[in-house]
Amino acid sequence: MNKIALFEHPLKSTPVVCLSGQYSDNRIWIKRDDLIPFSFGGNKVRKAAEFYSVLQENGADLVMTYGSNTSNHCRVIANLAFALGIRCHIISPESKGEDSFNRLIVERFGATVETCPVEEVSQTIDAAMERFRKEGANPYFIMGGGHGINGTNAYVKAYEEILLQQLEYGVGFDCIFHASGTGSTQAGLTCGRLTHLAAGKKCPKVVGISIAREAHRGRKVIRESIAEFLGTQDAKLYRDEELLFTDKYRLGGYGSYNEEVTHLIGKVMSHEGIPMDTTYVGKAFYGMIKYLQAKKIKGRDILFLHTGGTPLYFDHLKGLL
Ligand SMILES: *Cc1c(COP(=O)(O)O)cnc(C)c1O
Repeated sequence: MNKIALFEHPLKSTPVVCLSGQYSDNRIWIKRDDLIPFSFGGNKVRKAAEFYSVLQENGADLVMTYGSNTSNHCRVIANLAFALGIRCHIISPESKGEDSFNRLIVERFGATVETCPVEEVSQTIDAAMERFRKEGANPYFIMGGGHGINGTNAYVKAYEEILLQQLEYGVGFDCIFHASGTGSTQAGLTCGRLTHLAAGKKCPKVVGISIAREAHRGRKVIRESIAEFLGTQDAKLYRDEELLFTDKYRLGGYGSYNEEVTHLIGKVMSHEGIPMDTTYVGKAFYGMIKYLQAKKIKGRDILFLHTGGTPLYFDHLKGLL
């Protein structure tokens, strides 16, 4: 397998900037995980950096994963596989043909895409794994969105990085907000917080803005990922009141948004030069502003984690600028 220099020597941190415009009665800072310098960045690259080592340890010659035709995760994995010199196979639910730059990039990297009805995803994955093994390949399966313990690990490390950046900038963040989807980003950050709280340290709360799931299901999946990370040894560190996840700003579910979202995206792009997509980051930024208003939170330093999705920004460019 080829080496990738960035993953052999990861960056110490991604940039944190304070926004100049007025968006809230608080100071808003943004951590630019969208600028991780591999395959257009984003939280899927932080997770992929964990899978980079896992694939090497397993001696995999084929990586298989799951995602929609707009998936950021699939783009990053297809790029990772190409750079490593191994094959990539993507299972994707059938959709109404809507094209995206992410899918285009996946195809450019020579990944094979197999579509199936959404109800048949797990059988299709099992059958494909079986088929590849029979061919004599050594396939490795990564869950959709890079979900699972490796994805969680990536964001436990990111929480530590944020604590160091607080010292560097001389600022104490009250909360970290971010777009919450499969839940591993939130599980990782929350585990970081739980561990530091247990050590008696003051550290930022973590608030996930749901971009798709309703609270009940969203919380359950995050709780499971936290339990998986903490294991039996540290299970007692878990406190349900530390799992802050709101479904108030789903705006009808995955991919839906409104004019307030596009207006905010336009404002942030034109005044700060920071692109945000409508499915994840722009919607979560909008949710954060509304949440701070609703809870009458004022005068604090707030960190928004920019989780990436830059190719999606271009899919909707005409409506956003
Ligand atoms: C996948 C994704 C998320 C959600 O992250 P999870 O760890 O799945 O909750 C947020 N933002 C962007 C841009 C993403 O691609």
